[in-house]
Amino acid sequence: MISRKILVINSGSSSIKYRLFNAVKNGDHGASFRLLTKGLIEKIGHKDSNVHDHREGIQLVLQNLTSGRDAKIKDLKEIWVVGHRIVHGGVEFKKPTLITSEVMAKIRECFELAPLHNPANYAGVEACQAILPDTRQVAVFDTAFHQTLPEHAYIYGLPYEYYEKYNLRKYGFHGTSHQYVAHEAARILEKPLRKLRLITCHLGNGCSITAVKHGQSVDTSMGFTPLEGLVMGTRCGDIDPASVIFLAGKEKTSLEEIDRVLNYKSGLKGISGLSNDMREIWNAAKEGHHRAKLAFDIFTYRIKKYIGSYIAAMGGVDAIVFTAGIGENEAHVRQRITKGLFEFLSKKKVKVLVIPTNEELMIAKQAFHVVNS
Ligand code: ADP
Repeated sequence: MISRKILVINSGSSSIKYRLFNAVKNGDHGASFRLLTKGLIEKIGHKDSNVHDHREGIQLVLQNLTSGRDAKIKDLKEIWVVGHRIVHGGVEFKKPTLITSEVMAKIRECFELAPLHNPANYAGVEACQAILPDTRQVAVFDTAFHQTLPEHAYIYGLPYEYYEKYNLRKYGFHGTSHQYVAHEAARILEKPLRKLRLITCHLGNGCSITAVKHGQSVDTSMGFTPLEGLVMGTRCGDIDPASVIFLAGKEKTSLEEIDRVLNYKSGLKGISGLSNDMREIWNAAKEGHHRAKLAFDIFTYRIKKYIGSYIAAMGGVDAIVFTAGIGENEAHVRQRITKGLFEFLSKKKVKVLVIPTNEELMIAKQAFHVVNS
C-alpha cells in the first residue's frame, strides 16, 4: 500500500494555517485521507513577532512538522505535494493546477482581482518553492468550482465592454467548501452527484450560497468580489449600487472609506450596532434588542430568498445543505430559513442536511489527484 504525505497551506496576509494529511492509495484513482496534524502561525510581520515574513512562517511550519515530541515527519522529502489555497483564479483557472512559473505569472495577474488575498497566498507558494524546491506545489482556487457558471449567470447588466476589457463578471468564492459539501451530500444521500440538484449554504463570517446542478455550480451569490449576495458578519451583500454614489456625496467621503464601510462595518454588525457574531446577535435578539432581531430577520430572509431563486434556476431541488460556523452550529438560523419553506420542502421531500465543511481536506484530495494524474 502506498502512502503519501500532503501538506495543505492556507497563507493569509498575517497568518499561515497548515494541515498535514496522509493519503493511502486504494486502487487506481482512489485514496483515503487521514489528518496527521494541524497548526497556525500568527502575527506574521507584526512588530512584536519574531516571524518577519512568509518565508520564516513556512520555515516554522516545517520545523513544527519535523521536530519535537509530536513530529510527524523525519525528512522534508517525505512531503509528496503541497496544496495551496489561492483565493482568485480569475477566468484562467477552472481546476486545481500544478504550479509552474507560467502559473505563478497568471496568479500574479489575478492580484488586482483580489488585492487582499492573492498576494498573501502567492507569498506562501514562493516561500514553499524556496524551501522545498524539489516538491511539487498545487494551486487550488476558491473561484474554480464556479467556472461552470453559464454566461447568463455570470455577466452583469453593465456595458459588455467592461467584461471584455477588464474581465468584470461574477466569479463566486468559497468554491472549495461548496464542492466539498456537495460531494459529501451525495455520499450521505447515496446518490450520484450527477443526478442531484443541491443548494449549498456556506454561512460563516463570510456567507455564500450556491446552486449545484448535477455536480456543477450553476449560480452562486458572491460575485466579482466576496461582497455580493448574502448579508454577512460585516459585509453588506446585495445593495442598490446607486447607494454608493449617494453615500459618497452625503458623507463627503472617499471611495476607499465607503469600501471599508461595505466590507467591515456593515452586515450583522452594521445593522445591529452590536456584533458580527451570530451568537451575540441571537442572545441579544432573545432579550428583545430590536436591531439584533432585525439583523437576524434580514440575515435569514435574504438566505430564504436566494434558496427560492436557486430552486427556480434549477427547476427544483433535492437537498439543501448548511455548513460553516453559523450553518453548522446555529439551529435557530436553519429553523427560521426552513420554517418559511416548510410546505414546499415537505411536499417535495427535500432533504435538509448539516455537513461540516473541510476545505483543507478538499485541497489535499485535489492536490493528490493533480499529481496522481
Ligand atoms: P469564518 O468565515 O471566519 O471561517 P466561521 O465559519 O468560523 O467563520 O463562522 C463564524 C460564525 O459562526 C460566527 O457568526 C459565530 O457566531 C458562528 N458560530 C455559531 N456557533 C459557533 C460555534 N460553536 N463555533 C464557532 N462559530 C460559531
